[in-house]
Amino acid sequence: VVKAAGIYARISNDPEGDRLGVDRQVADCRAEAGRRGWPVAGEYIDDDKSAWSGKTRPEFRRLFDDIEGHRLDAVLFWHPDRLTRRPIEMEEFIDVCRRAKLEDIAWIGGQLAGRDDDGLLLLRILGAVASDASAKTSKRIRRKNDDRALAGLPTGGGFRPFGYRDDRVTVEPLEAALIKDAAARVIAGDSLRSIVIDWQAQGVRSPADRPWSLQTFRRMLTGPRLSGQRSHRGEIVAKAVWAPILTPEEGARIRAILALARHERRRPTRRYFLTSILRCGRCGTTLIARPDAKGQRRYVCATGPGRIGCGRLAILAEPVEALIAEAILYRLDTPEVAAALAGAAGADAATAAEHEALANEQARLEELAAAYGEGAFTFREWLAARKAILAKIEAAQKRLSHLSQSAAIDPFVGRSSELRAEWGPMALNRQRAIASALLDRVIVHPAVPGRATFDPSRIEPVWRL
Ligand SMILES: [Zn+2]
Repeated sequence: VVKAAGIYARISNDPEGDRLGVDRQVADCRAEAGRRGWPVAGEYIDDDKSAWSGKTRPEFRRLFDDIEGHRLDAVLFWHPDRLTRRPIEMEEFIDVCRRAKLEDIAWIGGQLAGRDDDGLLLLRILGAVASDASAKTSKRIRRKNDDRALAGLPTGGGFRPFGYRDDRVTVEPLEAALIKDAAARVIAGDSLRSIVIDWQAQGVRSPADRPWSLQTFRRMLTGPRLSGQRSHRGEIVAKAVWAPILTPEEGARIRAILALARHERRRPTRRYFLTSILRCGRCGTTLIARPDAKGQRRYVCATGPGRIGCGRLAILAEPVEALIAEAILYRLDTPEVAAALAGAAGADAATAAEHEALANEQARLEELAAAYGEGAFTFREWLAARKAILAKIEAAQKRLSHLSQSAAIDPFVGRSSELRAEWGPMALNRQRAIASALLDRVIVHPAVPGRATFDPSRIEPVWRL
């Protein structure tokens, strides 16, 4: 007579589509236990994705422990393939049950009767068949997914992508406009956070009908999907069949800018928009931000451990920042800047060259993908061949992110009044992007002894344009 039965269930998202809910498995097993008059002593539920992948399943192990500890005298599961799909684990299970003399093993529509060797054989066969079928299906599904990706077809499942209708191919114009606007803002130096806050305020919602979070927004905006590129297993593998919302250049630029921003965030936060621009007029060292004892914001030439400055120069932040902002606004309206930007055709040529290099490498990737699609080599070989190309792409993107600096000021040239209106509320990193696009450096000369008020003649901007 059974006194304590254990129910084992496994959450599976195996590709066959037999997405048998774990609740259903447990409910069926409980009903079966009731029918057999087996008291249920415990439920063992793993959320392991696939029982043949060989990942550890803690509840499976706990089941073993309880069998070995004689806390169970019967085991119920929905089907042997829920228990395990790995023959070696099935043998282990049978072995553990034998040693513990646990003889009541049942599943829906089947059971082992006593020390029934036919029953054990059946269990082994069911497990093995499931294992083989699963491996084959998995390979087939993978191959199918690879083929779809290489053909540039959209992925299925889940919510539609933002910017596209339910067919995942047709552009949704209102959302596309929002995406384009966001992309332009990122390229101009706005932070993702400020854009997300605006979207939240405007009530823009994700395809899952939720407000945007920084994380989901970043994933959406940096995804190659928006520039009409199909990614697969974390790599861009083909030109997509859907219409792009951003150009590949814009996509690459955004990824480069955000990668750079992430790199910069690892350093201490910069509340000071002139850090890395101001230089000590005595020794030439870059000034750092450091408030004085009263908490007034200052830039100082720092000395001491790890510092190479002379330690003999400091300036209050407020007035120098105001002065430089004013100088930038004025500078934008000067013929020099207009001419420099006209002459930035040179820089644009360099940018265009980088874009072309990028496009060439992308094309090589696509050729490679096509060759793979024709069965020229295995997925692993394909990945290896891509590595070199991807390194070149990354290098080109890095160079582009430096070239794209002038993008921060393009919209404002000759229209400094617009910039003036926006400057105050503008995000710090955008101010900094504009400053570093225009300024090479600003030299801060030593104060005249005895002069307490701010002396603008101490400030000497060195313009880039
Ligand atoms: Zn100094």
